[in-house]
Amino acid sequence: KKVIRTEEIFYPWSFGYSNRSCVSKIFLPTTKNTSSTKENEQDGKSHRLMIRAGLIRQSSSGVYSLLPLALRSLNKIEKIIDLEMTNIGAQKLSLPNLLSANAWKRTGRWESAGSELFRLKDRKESEFCLAPTHEEEITLLVGHEVASYRQLPLRLYQLGRKYRDEMRPRYGLLRGREFIMKDLYTFDVSEEDALRTYEEVSIAYKKIFEKIGVPFVIADADSGNIGGTKSHEFHFLSPVGEDLILTCPHCGYSANEERAHGLVSPTKQISSHVNQKQTVNFGIGKNNRLIISILEFGRVLNVSKLKAANSENFEIIPIRNDNVDIKDILNNNNFEAVDIYVDNTFQTNSSDLKSNQLFNKIISEIQSIVKHPTSIHHGDFHNTSPGDECPVCSITSVLNHSESLYPLFGHRAIEVGHTFLLGTKYSEPLKATFAPENVGELRPIQMGCYGLGISRILAAIIETSHDEYGIIWPSSVAPYKVCIIPSSDEPTIQESTRNLFDLLTSTSHELNGEILIDDRTNLSLGYRIKDSELVGYPWMMILGRRFLDSGRVEVHERKTRQRIDLKFDEIGNFLL
Ligand code: ATP
Ligand code: MG
Ligand code: MG
Ligand code: MG
Repeated sequence: KKVIRTEEIFYPWSFGYSNRSCVSKIFLPTTKNTSSTKENEQDGKSHRLMIRAGLIRQSSSGVYSLLPLALRSLNKIEKIIDLEMTNIGAQKLSLPNLLSANAWKRTGRWESAGSELFRLKDRKESEFCLAPTHEEEITLLVGHEVASYRQLPLRLYQLGRKYRDEMRPRYGLLRGREFIMKDLYTFDVSEEDALRTYEEVSIAYKKIFEKIGVPFVIADADSGNIGGTKSHEFHFLSPVGEDLILTCPHCGYSANEERAHGLVSPTKQISSHVNQKQTVNFGIGKNNRLIISILEFGRVLNVSKLKAANSENFEIIPIRNDNVDIKDILNNNNFEAVDIYVDNTFQTNSSDLKSNQLFNKIISEIQSIVKHPTSIHHGDFHNTSPGDECPVCSITSVLNHSESLYPLFGHRAIEVGHTFLLGTKYSEPLKATFAPENVGELRPIQMGCYGLGISRILAAIIETSHDEYGIIWPSSVAPYKVCIIPSSDEPTIQESTRNLFDLLTSTSHELNGEILIDDRTNLSLGYRIKDSELVGYPWMMILGRRFLDSGRVEVHERKTRQRIDLKFDEIGNFLL
């Protein structure tokens, strides 16, 4: 029976398989030797592999061109996302990337974003930035259009470029200065609805990562400069990751070190004071900043940084920048007791905070704020991880009068997604309000924002899935699923190649447009096999001597590098 190839429908003039399926005709500049590229040995493996496999080229520091094969994979990630977003009723739009400074000034982020923001001026000297994220822009947009509760809820997302002048752009697409993000923003009438949205989106994100097929970890997270009250991150575990994730092997609780720091260090003490509900914990964080965290049954309620201006003055600034001051928390909560855990390194390591005088000032400030007696515990809490006790488990075990406590394990990880429950952090300053169902004052919209680092995911997949021969694409996002390599120009081989191509596309709908033929018969078979392994197609099928001898195609699985020789009529079943 005559099989009509899709190729023929689109390219009726082409002879046999069309140009777009031939390696010789597509833009795939693989390189075996990377000495000519501007990278060095410390670069992540994914970066080197993406250059060698012809996926990306550098334009300037942290700025890259994505070549056709990278874009094919990216589009597959986008498709997976689009489906899950449609399933939760989110609609796609596109926001500008050249943003006026006005809204950023109103939310305070024009200042707080610091030098990570790419700033520029137009010819009239008006200030702009290149969008690093879009909370301000979308809040203005929705705020203008939404007047009543009837127009809510709303879920809007986009997939586009973001710009951040990163201090240390590195590992290629893992930390770029221009990168691709999918960002979803949600708008609800009440905190409860917003929380339900948060849970729904979290489930959709889980499905997205399950479909991509790379193992991931969800961690309790700090919400940084974006702000908000509840936050989680999605991570791929990898030694080049810049985050440290602490995971309890017993209950599975995971937290980013940024978030967990205060929570983890003095666990023994926390567990023995668990009935006191709330504790205050001091610890030294990154850059020798003092971290103060407030815990409730071992769960972090709030984390703040203490910044010492000099040895006389200090101010407490909330790390999460969500307008919740640690002083307010101390004031407004009815503590049964306050325990202050002072890490010994506090007084010895930190140059800014050395002075005992300053320390005593901090303590008396805190004592003046809280209405209950405080007790101060000194200890060596900081140098205990990994091997601290899991907060969730330790609390359970204390409540059960059991002694078994579990160590937390630290893993390096790459942050690939981040979800934030924002509350009214943006809707309030930008006056995005609605008239509620029951007459009353206008209320600010309850928001959430949810980012997926698409270009970072692409690189992170490669970072976690490769071997000495090259990339190992998960089938879900491989640029092409199959590469057929005819060993020579011999007419039998050529015709069989065409037949194999037809057989595959007619057997599985999923293989339509997913097959490449490495027709560069001027290159040796060995060279082309190496190339195919470098690019990492899940399947490689070779038509060569063995085929001429026995009519069997060599089918190689990239992941296992195992070969199985199959007759044409066995291939269909094998793939299905
Ligand atoms: P990081 O901690 O790695 O700097 P972030 O916490 O600043 O990331 P978010 O503001 O949470 O990033 O942005 C959402 C997502 O965008 C991140 O989870 C990450 O996947 C991606 N992302 C952030 N910065 C970059 C970057 N410089 N290059 C590529 N992807 C990035
Ligand atoms: Mg960042
Ligand atoms: Mg982060
Ligand atoms: Mg983040």
